[in-house]
Amino acid sequence: MLQSRIGWALFFWLGLIIFLFTTGAIALFLLDGMEHSRLRQLDALQTSARLFRRELETIGLPLTSPKLDELVQLQAKESGLYITVANEDGNVLIDSRQDAARMENVLRLSEFKEAQENGFGEATSDPQLPGRPFHFIVLPLEADGKPIGFVRVGQDIEAGGLHASYHLVVGSMALGLVILTGAYFIARRFEERVVAPVQQLTRACAGVERGDYTGHVWAAAEDELGDTARQFTRMQAAIDMRVDQLTAESNRLKTVLGSMVEGVIAVDAQQRVLLANRAVRKLLAIRADDVVGRPLLELTRNRSLDDSFRAAIASDEPYRHEFEVSTTPRRILSLQANRLPGDPCPGVVMVLHDVTELRRLENMRREFVSSVSHELKTPLAAVRAYTETLQLGAVEDVENRGYFLSQIMDSADRLNDLIQDMLHLARIESREEAFDITEVPVAGVIEKCLHTQRDTAAARQIALRIHPPDEEISVLGDEEGVRTILSNLIDNAVKYTSEGGTVDVAWGEEGSHVAITVKDTGIGIPQAALERIFERFYRVDKARSREMGGTGLGLSIVKHTAQAMEGEVTVQSQVGEGSTFTVRLPRG
Ligand code: ADP
Repeated sequence: MLQSRIGWALFFWLGLIIFLFTTGAIALFLLDGMEHSRLRQLDALQTSARLFRRELETIGLPLTSPKLDELVQLQAKESGLYITVANEDGNVLIDSRQDAARMENVLRLSEFKEAQENGFGEATSDPQLPGRPFHFIVLPLEADGKPIGFVRVGQDIEAGGLHASYHLVVGSMALGLVILTGAYFIARRFEERVVAPVQQLTRACAGVERGDYTGHVWAAAEDELGDTARQFTRMQAAIDMRVDQLTAESNRLKTVLGSMVEGVIAVDAQQRVLLANRAVRKLLAIRADDVVGRPLLELTRNRSLDDSFRAAIASDEPYRHEFEVSTTPRRILSLQANRLPGDPCPGVVMVLHDVTELRRLENMRREFVSSVSHELKTPLAAVRAYTETLQLGAVEDVENRGYFLSQIMDSADRLNDLIQDMLHLARIESREEAFDITEVPVAGVIEKCLHTQRDTAAARQIALRIHPPDEEISVLGDEEGVRTILSNLIDNAVKYTSEGGTVDVAWGEEGSHVAITVKDTGIGIPQAALERIFERFYRVDKARSREMGGTGLGLSIVKHTAQAMEGEVTVQSQVGEGSTFTVRLPRG
């Protein structure tokens, strides 16, 4: 059975064309045959008519003779011919098929007129005999050289024509059947050779459209279709390879973009997002999952990006800009926007860099420089003032020069303390300070620290108390570092506690750490200042701190030293009631 529309169409048209041509040829052939047979029939009719005329003329009977009538009827019956005899005036005297008396005058018929004028008349019909066509031959009759009438001999021509039509129909039907069968097999063969490979090709093309490059196309034939199939297979392989390459390249690009710290976002000329990496979503706090195709402003709600886009698309130069985004925490972003190559410009790519930390460090550095210069200025000014006073004559003042010199000495000590603390802090921060990590028994270090504070505390009637745990415990750290931490905390506790107060030092295990607390009943720290007391040079009360000989760097040193030993320091305080500092260090 045919499988394709093309196969059926081919079958139909091929069958029709061959059928029409062949039927036409047969019809022509048959018509030609029919014409031949008509002419032969006409010939025979003429001969019969002439013979019959001669017979009539030879007999010599008058035309009205009943004997002649008998003879005509007999002749007509035997030969199957239609015979009419009329007199010279055109009146029918004998007719083999009709009543002669009732027949009209024949001279009004053209064939009789022709016979009268030319000696021979011919016709294919008789108005008195409607229906089947005849061949009529009319000849004049003569007696003694004078015309006496006419004889008409006719023969039915329908039989031959019918015969021919019958042959035509039967022959055409048989031929049609043969042609249809032939056309069917031609269409089948065409379908196998042409349509089937084209269908395969179509299916394989549809596969390529879906991204399937494995569709097989039959390529055995060494013809144009086979060439097409082989070329298609090569093209499939080439596309497959290209797609693989492009996918790998795109994956690499995605990985690179995804692992970049910088945010990258590309938008088209209508500000619709073409791509956005993970970093840019984080930097701009974009929560939507599917960002491609969405308008930039709707996604980011950031005017600066919109302005940067406009500035970049209008210029060939990269546009740089720094702005703040209201994410939590707030971020400062540096942006560089470049227009994408092409005319008209297809869009803009923006690279965003988080410079929050950089700017914070720059600020810190600025503040630090200004704090340091401020801290150094005061003792230096004092040294200068006392030195000038001495130069101006006070050196001769036996009573007061000792005081001036001791003030210079104090300021020098203060400068020295400041510089030492700054250097110490710088070393810890830059990890230059070499820590010798060992198991350090806590009790021993606390003992030493308290020992150095004992006189000061006693002078101000401050009770220094320790609360050791039942068992001796150690921390894992640098002994000098642990001492720095604890001596700073105990020193502060004594410094900021009024006369008659107490300072309690306790320690104990806390999971994998040892927690050491230094608790005083001193002035306490305001809540707002708690977060800041570990910053460099931060003091709640500057005058009091200086008076007590503080540099404002002690707690900063404590915090960084504890962190360097993988520990931490926290504080709890209530103004007027006292403060509790807790240091946690890894257990030894
Ligand atoms: P300072 O050299 O001024 O003591 P620190 O860094 O040691 O500097 O301390 C910073 C500030 O924290 C101090 O100026 C003080 O205001 C406050 N402070 C520290 N320890 C205590 C404490 N035990 N009680 C009250 N205030 C304290």
